[in-house]
Amino acid sequence: MDRQPLLFELGKPGRRAVDLPVLDVPVKEGLIPENYCRQEKAPLPELSQIEVVRHYTQLSERTFGVDNGFYPLGSCTMKYNPVVNEAVARYPGLSSLHPLQPVEEVQGAMEIMYNLKGALQEITGMDGMTLEPAAGAHGELTGLKLIRAYHRDRNDLKRNKVIVPDSAHGTNPASTAMCGMEVVEIKSAADGSIDLEALKAAVGEDTAALMLTNPTTLGLFEHKIEAIAKIVHEAGGLLYYDGANSNAIMGVVRPGDMGYDVVHLNLHKTFSTPHGGGGPGSGPVGVKKALVPYLPNPQVVKTGDKYIWQDSPKSIGKVIGFNGNFGVMVRAYAYILAMGGTGLLRASEDAVLNANYIKKALEGTYDSPFADKFCMHECVLTSKLQHEYGVHTLDIAKRLLDYGYHPPTIYFPMIVEEAIMIEPTETESKETLDGFIQAMKDIAKEASINAEVIKTAPHTTIVGRMDETLAARKPVVKWGD
Ligand SMILES: *Cc1c(COP(=O)(O)O)cnc(C)c1O
Repeated sequence: MDRQPLLFELGKPGRRAVDLPVLDVPVKEGLIPENYCRQEKAPLPELSQIEVVRHYTQLSERTFGVDNGFYPLGSCTMKYNPVVNEAVARYPGLSSLHPLQPVEEVQGAMEIMYNLKGALQEITGMDGMTLEPAAGAHGELTGLKLIRAYHRDRNDLKRNKVIVPDSAHGTNPASTAMCGMEVVEIKSAADGSIDLEALKAAVGEDTAALMLTNPTTLGLFEHKIEAIAKIVHEAGGLLYYDGANSNAIMGVVRPGDMGYDVVHLNLHKTFSTPHGGGGPGSGPVGVKKALVPYLPNPQVVKTGDKYIWQDSPKSIGKVIGFNGNFGVMVRAYAYILAMGGTGLLRASEDAVLNANYIKKALEGTYDSPFADKFCMHECVLTSKLQHEYGVHTLDIAKRLLDYGYHPPTIYFPMIVEEAIMIEPTETESKETLDGFIQAMKDIAKEASINAEVIKTAPHTTIVGRMDETLAARKPVVKWGD
């Protein structure tokens, strides 16, 4: 064995972590068919309680999360998830509910959903909202279905094309295709903004929508948004806002006021609920008045002082079992209430400030393709200045692990070669930002004097440099042979 044995490999026959009570119910002969019964004992590790505790504690120490380090993963908004959100989500009156309980028994939960919808509508400038979708991509699919239902209801059947800029998050074209619509890609202008002439040439009577995130995936605010909205609307299309990363705009500007008709949010990014590892998430979708009738059923509605579920006859139908990921909604609602309007505004302002602080501090050390612009909540640099030493973006990301940082997002957005996309979020101190900046500068220096140490990094992690293709295609995810 060329690695440290895991604790459970050290078990000894007869060791026990707990004593189970002796079976005191009669075992009915034949209850379990013979062929389902074990002939031999399962080869399970036998360990004492402290060994089990140490095993899981050691595993947890191998995990990197926002709770144990700086995690500037661009486009993912790995901001701190306040503990108060967790405390509220664990109230038994919320965590022990069953979705099939009668409405009289779940008025409090329905009030939370109703109020959360209201708050998110206010933040986005929308007239209606569904909380059903379980992720950002699920929100996109839902939003596109709403757009399709809107066009079809108006008997405008030709509108089957969705325009997506080449800087878009990969889920945008994927959701479009999944919704049975056609993707029309338009190239961005050299400064990363939408090329208005290319947009004019792309729109037509078959345009269902333009999907555009603002700030764009380059971390830049699209200042031409009103002209863009006009072009799309005049062609009869709708504007879709990918609001997965709304961390720059809360309380500053609203998609609804920019001319957008549909928006999805990622509660598990902007609204500070935990994410990573596959869920659960929540991707609410907001719409302008004209699209409200198509929202998924059922909608939580208030009549007098009672909350009820209401169906709309034109609805696209349900998009999830029951009512979505309620625990995530509770966390997001707790976050919004704790922050308040001015708190959310301050969070966005600080997120933007932190990203610009890093951008300015690293310009010169690293290539900055948009050096002449302020960025929003994230900034994009590249490894171009390190290429002469044979050091590329992947190497820098791996080396950051040795310095104790989670690497930024790399090679995205794809329209920037060798991109390094840094999103510090608002919850980091100046000292943390300075520490990260210093690490990035140290790595740049190492590149010029000892590139090999970067190209073979990481050196301090349990698993070293992997073959990323093999790791993705043939992952070894189980212990033993
Ligand atoms: C994260 C993200 C998504 C997808 O959200 P999921 O919850 O992972 O499905 C979509 N668009 C953008 C811009 C994102 O950053």
